[in-house]
Amino acid sequence: MEELVQRIKEDGRVLGEGVLKVDSFVTHQVDPDLMEAIGYRFAEVFAEAGITKVVTIEASGIAPALFAAKKLAVPMIFARKAKSLTMDEELLTSSVYSFTKQVTSQISISRKFLSSDDKVLIIDDFLANGQAAKGLVELCQQAGAKVDGIGIVIEKSFQDGRDLLEEMGMRVVSLARIASLKNGEVEFLEGDA
Ligand code: 5GP
Repeated sequence: MEELVQRIKEDGRVLGEGVLKVDSFVTHQVDPDLMEAIGYRFAEVFAEAGITKVVTIEASGIAPALFAAKKLAVPMIFARKAKSLTMDEELLTSSVYSFTKQVTSQISISRKFLSSDDKVLIIDDFLANGQAAKGLVELCQQAGAKVDGIGIVIEKSFQDGRDLLEEMGMRVVSLARIASLKNGEVEFLEGDA
């Protein structure tokens, strides 16, 4: 997605250890126009898939997922990283090792929001080693829901996430694919959409 690639070139910052900082438009301050364009692109790609729910993980997946869900005219569900006192229902849970925070956390969704009738589009802001997306796939599978695909805003293709998800039989669609972050430079591959 050209608009996204341009924005990463202009405003992304490479931190050490293979991390890209995009806090001025994705992960902290959020650009609503860009998020709308991203969400709508995912909706276009999955328009014929019969998606019934868009699933993401808090916090940075919410903005693109919400716009995709709006365009697909289906609900958006975000997995929670901390259990809330108001989550008194039965939960779907899985554990996710966070690439950026280097801690394992339990993620959860109330069982009442996903069922075996659902066809799910999973969306996340980054794909690194694939642990967050894999955790979301597991939550959907616990509910018996079918995952139709995984939409990623920024894929770091030099890490193992895509391989892991494709080995699980998942279709991965990334709007920006990064080949390398070496020497403080962002090198891109052709994106999927
Ligand atoms: P994974 O689970 O695929 O290893 O990592 C994906 C998660 O880690 C994303 O949800 C995102 O929050 C975070 N993440 C991974 N790599 C980066 C990065 O380079 N920059 C930022 N801002 N977040 C990242």
